[in-house]
Amino acid sequence: MTGYKTIPYTIAFANELVMDPIGFVPYRGRMKLSYLQPKAGDWVTGPAVPGRSSVEILRGRVRDLRDRPDKRGPERMRKLHPRRQWRCMDKLLCQICGEPATDPETGVIPWALTKTVFEQTSPSSGRTNAPPTCWNCIPKALEECPMLQEDFTLYTVAGRTSAGVLADMYRPGLVRAIEPTAHMVFVAWDDYTHHPFALALCQVVELHGMRPISP
Ligand SMILES: [Zn+2]
Repeated sequence: MTGYKTIPYTIAFANELVMDPIGFVPYRGRMKLSYLQPKAGDWVTGPAVPGRSSVEILRGRVRDLRDRPDKRGPERMRKLHPRRQWRCMDKLLCQICGEPATDPETGVIPWALTKTVFEQTSPSSGRTNAPPTCWNCIPKALEECPMLQEDFTLYTVAGRTSAGVLADMYRPGLVRAIEPTAHMVFVAWDDYTHHPFALALCQVVELHGMRPISP
């Protein structure tokens, strides 16, 4: 993609992408999606729910080579890096520079959102898979990001809670899952029936205390 001078922190590089085979394996009397050679860190969990055992969703594997320009290969502007996107949501890091996004003086979090990555849930809250953007990076993001140029609203946000994931969905029954049956579907942490069929690609959070900033 042209127009970018900065490679956002959440964007994957070619050699970070992993194509390890996945498929359905027996799990507590049912089947669930797994890497065929599973590793302990493959699954992600949501907030603890009283009375339920831990909620687990398989997350897409990636390498982390951002700090290795000699090894990482060219950037893939349309591919999010699941682990870095997750880290941004968990630690409130800027999606452009990867540094803390929270305003140290006011405690609010600046958040630039386009309609395509935001679903409003109340007048002052909504869900998104786009991490925050720190004050320093907002001018750069507006200048370089074609999506933000088309349509965006800048908010300050008081806080966020983890809501679920966007996932590619797979159909059970095949030993090896090849093609997803649906792309980037929202799966909430309490949507238990869909968890075994989901390959999570990014974390979705619910933003609270949103205030639009007039330009
Ligand atoms: Zn930044």
